[in-house]
Amino acid sequence: MSYDDNNIFAKILRGEIPCKKIYEDEYVLAFHDINPQKKIHVLVIPKGKYTDLDNFIKNAATNEMVGLLKGINIVAKELNISVDNGKGYRALTNVSEHGGQEVPHLHFHLFGGEYIGKMVE
Ligand code: AMP
Repeated sequence: MSYDDNNIFAKILRGEIPCKKIYEDEYVLAFHDINPQKKIHVLVIPKGKYTDLDNFIKNAATNEMVGLLKGINIVAKELNISVDNGKGYRALTNVSEHGGQEVPHLHFHLFGGEYIGKMVE
């Protein structure tokens, strides 16, 4: 699948649509999910144009990969859900059709603030 520049997260990255921003650096943007499924539900997205995790693994540069993973850790700490300052969280990314992905820009969901429950329903 080629990258769709009109997907909603591309618009958020370009500042065309607002978001409830938590954190931003050279590599990532993190913001609250518009339809939270848990007490804390945030999204961490890379700034590069990647459709999903497979696409990211195939095409991203090492610094972008490190930047995304470190971004997840920074955001978890910011929200007090990391192992260092909280009780943990779930990081999840849906990939394509069977993964149930709706927005075609790679994003990690971070769920926390309460026990998240079983891994797959
Ligand atoms: P997925 O099904 O993994 O593609 O998840 C897409 C997520 O994006 C869902 O949890 C939506 O609630 C969330 N979402 C869609 N539009 C927005 C938006 N404008 N701001 C924040 N989150 C959004």
